[in-house]
Amino acid sequence: MIQLHDLFFEEFISATQISQAVNGVVVRINDDYKGRKPVFLTVLNGAFFFASDIIRKFDGNCEMSFIKVASYKGTQSTGNISTVMGVEPSLKGRDVIIVEDIVDSGNTIEAIIKILQQEEVNSYKIATMFYKPLAFTKNYPIDYVGMEIENDFIVGYGLDYDGLGRNLNTIYKLKPRKMKNIVLFGPPGAGKGTQADVLKEKYNLKHISTGDVFRYNIKNETELGMLAKSFMNKGDLVPDEVTIDMLKTEVDKNVDANGFIFDGFPRTNSQAKALDEFLAEKGEGINGMVALEVAEDLLVARLLKRGETSGRPDDQDESKIRNRFNEYETKTAVLKEYYQEQNKYFGVDGVGSIEDITERLCEVIDGL
Ligand code: AMP
Repeated sequence: MIQLHDLFFEEFISATQISQAVNGVVVRINDDYKGRKPVFLTVLNGAFFFASDIIRKFDGNCEMSFIKVASYKGTQSTGNISTVMGVEPSLKGRDVIIVEDIVDSGNTIEAIIKILQQEEVNSYKIATMFYKPLAFTKNYPIDYVGMEIENDFIVGYGLDYDGLGRNLNTIYKLKPRKMKNIVLFGPPGAGKGTQADVLKEKYNLKHISTGDVFRYNIKNETELGMLAKSFMNKGDLVPDEVTIDMLKTEVDKNVDANGFIFDGFPRTNSQAKALDEFLAEKGEGINGMVALEVAEDLLVARLLKRGETSGRPDDQDESKIRNRFNEYETKTAVLKEYYQEQNKYFGVDGVGSIEDITERLCEVIDGL
């Protein structure tokens, strides 16, 4: 698996399969153009690998020319094509083989055909390495096809994703992300745990509350519990290395999940970075941070009330609660910006009935 920009791609067509397909095209072109002197008109940029492979194997004399066209920005669906670099010298009276990397909707080739007709060429044929019959909307024939593929988005052998991937010798296709991963965010007492219990059922997601995992470990007096206890009881954050390792272990225990609700994690910038990197290694990522926005005054009262029954030492003492808010303000609140920069921050009013708040959260999560 490889990463290009923000997307992940998996191996799809090997270099051997590519060269077999190229040879198939070469045999037919050599046969059809015996004794003639065609012009190979390569469509830049993507077709240069394919063109170079077939032209080098052409038996006889030929010439080469290049053309570059582009779809008008924003109007791709209308198929408006502009010529960035036209044919030079004139192709009048010539037998032209248009060489493309991939024929998709067919708009580009249609535009090139028009240019060739204006040029009054003697004949033209189309050779493409890849052809997507399911996407093709035109009715002109594609004469030489290396390989037919379905509607996959592919890179490699000249084809790119936003400039990258052309140099790959293997064809990779876009790997669909399988998981829905949500960071449920908000200050202590905002209601993350309560909402997570509802959301995990509704979306069939695995809920990981780092606070709950720590408390479980403290109760069972594990090594991790011993380590976390002193920090937690004061309302301090547990050190990043400890928390990140624990989080990774929890995720790896649930590799088959449809996705995760991260509750109480990340709480620092380095936790957020570690989470992104860790998910990226699996070809996954965070869909969005959904934040419950509640004013602090309301929260202190809520936490003290919860402390009457929760048995949590960090809920029972106002100074510990204030310290948790201080930790939140100084270390955690900045994560809003971290996710905003990725266009992944979604604030939700966290005041109201549990049901109303769930509804607001679902509206956001449904769109992620
Ligand atoms: P919570 O149940 O989310 O309010 O967490 C309770 C306590 O567990 C926090 O005050 C921290 O001491 C510790 N904790 C939970 N999650 C983290 C985290 N991501 N990073 C550091 N400490 C954490």
